Amino acid sequence: MESLRNGLNGVCETKKNPPSVLERLLSIQSEIELITAKVHRPEGSCRLLPVSKTVSVDVMKRLCQNGQPLFGENKVQELKTKRDTLFAEGARWHFIGHLQTNKVKECIKNIELLHSVDRSELAIALDKTLQKEGRCLDVLIQVNTSYETSKFGIHPEVAVSFARDLVRFDTIRIKGLMTLAVSSSDQIKVRSCFQKLKVLSEAIQRQAIDGVEMAELSMGMSSDYRLAVEEGSTIVRVGQAIFGERSVPNSYYWNEG
Ligand SMILES: *Cc1c(COP(=O)(O)O)cnc(C)c1O
Repeated sequence: MESLRNGLNGVCETKKNPPSVLERLLSIQSEIELITAKVHRPEGSCRLLPVSKTVSVDVMKRLCQNGQPLFGENKVQELKTKRDTLFAEGARWHFIGHLQTNKVKECIKNIELLHSVDRSELAIALDKTLQKEGRCLDVLIQVNTSYETSKFGIHPEVAVSFARDLVRFDTIRIKGLMTLAVSSSDQIKVRSCFQKLKVLSEAIQRQAIDGVEMAELSMGMSSDYRLAVEEGSTIVRVGQAIFGERSVPNSYYWNEG
């Protein structure tokens, strides 16, 4: 009898369900809160942006229905398809990918924040479309803090002048900076990318450029969000740690034009 009970317990143990997508999301949210408290940052000063590229609309729909309607997407075509299905569920979007000028109109239809303004040509295209539609858009400037050629973003040295240049577009509201840290297992190197972005945002803030806010620092993903929160991130963009591993490597998303 005793041995049977033990045996059953063993079976129960191995059959224990792995955490659901919602559970993983909520657990990362609480972890973010713990880290912000640990480094003496205000409660709620870092948001989690679940990155849903390649994730099915069924999974996303369940999150919407459980009070988690915010998503980050990397490709305009995928955003468009999912938006058509999930709009009725109250889904909200940030766009975090490299944006081609010919896809601006489709991309900005109802996104709340564009994380990836990285060149004047894009700003010009954004302004043109926004002027036509008579509205504004909140954006972040993407900075290439690692100098890796595989990543998009302006180099840190030209960030101040780039921010200055963008104020001529009164449809574009600059809210902060975004970066992808170096692809490295060396935490010191990864952390230094985040520190670089923070220092840069303070430098731009000090310039007090009319119409430029530096409220947001979008940095940190599945592999490095803990470091990013410690270094002052206000938005971490996390995909795989919530939704499971993707078969497509991240480099595919970052290299494609
Ligand atoms: C995919 C992606 C992320 C999230 O990466 P994960 O490894 O899934 O956490 C963050 N930022 C950008 C720009 C991405 O394309």
